[in-house]
Amino acid sequence: MAGSSIPLAKQVGRVPSMTVPLEAEEEKRYQKLMEVVVMVDLHEHPMVCPENMDNFIEYLRLGDYQWGYEAARHGGWAAVATANTFRGMVRSPELSYIAFEDLVDEIGMMLADLSKHGDKAVKVTSAEEILQAKDQGRVGILPTVEHLAIGDVLHRVDVLYSLGVRIAGLTYNLQNYIGAGLTERHDCGLTDFGVEVVRRMNDLGMAVDVSHAGYKTAMDAIEHSQAPIIYSHNAAHTLRPTWRTRKDEELIACAKKGGLIAITAVPNSLSDDPHQNINCVLDHYDYMVKLVGVDHVGIGTDTLVGDHVAFHVKMLGRNFTRSIPAPYLDGLESPADGKNIIRGFISRGYSDADIKKLAGGNALEFFRRVMN
Ligand SMILES: [Zn+2]
Repeated sequence: MAGSSIPLAKQVGRVPSMTVPLEAEEEKRYQKLMEVVVMVDLHEHPMVCPENMDNFIEYLRLGDYQWGYEAARHGGWAAVATANTFRGMVRSPELSYIAFEDLVDEIGMMLADLSKHGDKAVKVTSAEEILQAKDQGRVGILPTVEHLAIGDVLHRVDVLYSLGVRIAGLTYNLQNYIGAGLTERHDCGLTDFGVEVVRRMNDLGMAVDVSHAGYKTAMDAIEHSQAPIIYSHNAAHTLRPTWRTRKDEELIACAKKGGLIAITAVPNSLSDDPHQNINCVLDHYDYMVKLVGVDHVGIGTDTLVGDHVAFHVKMLGRNFTRSIPAPYLDGLESPADGKNIIRGFISRGYSDADIKKLAGGNALEFFRRVMN
């Protein structure tokens, strides 16, 4: 196959990644917890990237993708959301403006590949299917989209639902027909069409994700949605004031309506330390649990299988020359590092009951509230 001519990133052990140290007693607790905990990553990118990200667009164009089942299994995940979007970059360098056809193509190819790997992984679309997959020893693959690249065509929400998509971002970083993204100059809030989209998602049982939505657009979505909504890969502005982090009042408003905030682990997004590690991520869990309560926080690593920093620099074209101190986030650089989050929770003093909630229990409960 064409794509296989491009060398791909190692799914496990691509770079040296630290393990959170635990005392002997904690280590025992960790081993016992891992037997019962259900881990759900609410936002990641399991498409295996080329070893050299210079080849990324060519890889996307060829359309013969490998998916990170091995990384997901190694990371201990019961289920991983797929945050599909990358194929859109073949036609649009700006992810906010990708074509619907490319999004559907990517999901379709992923599901076709999944059907060939049924021994390892299986498509899941509900809390119950995630638990079944875990019982069967298979990784649950939960189709989700980075954002609804549907243009102004409402029924495309239904098309995505039919493919199994159960969480969808309303926007990427710029304005679309639905609302404004985080970097847009003016945030008008949800458009009339956006209100219809939210209603349609509610009717279908698809979770509204405002991770990349502008503040007003997100607040509008919280107000208009009949079902709880999700910030699928975010962090706290109070701890780390950047364009990408979220204000306390919106996070509280989301949680008050039964919503969920999942914590990101994107390299250089939470720290300027050249040797940054998982602790900068754990700080945001600690803050968020205090802010909105332990029942409203989950995991949304936004990890990818490959060089995330090269993706930022080369693909998103961002000027990171001043703010790209670290080549990766040590201890949580890929989905394969998932178990380290559980070790991290233990190191931060969370109880077993709370760790079960944060790891995936809250995600399952959220799905039950949203996916009728
Ligand atoms: Zn994102």
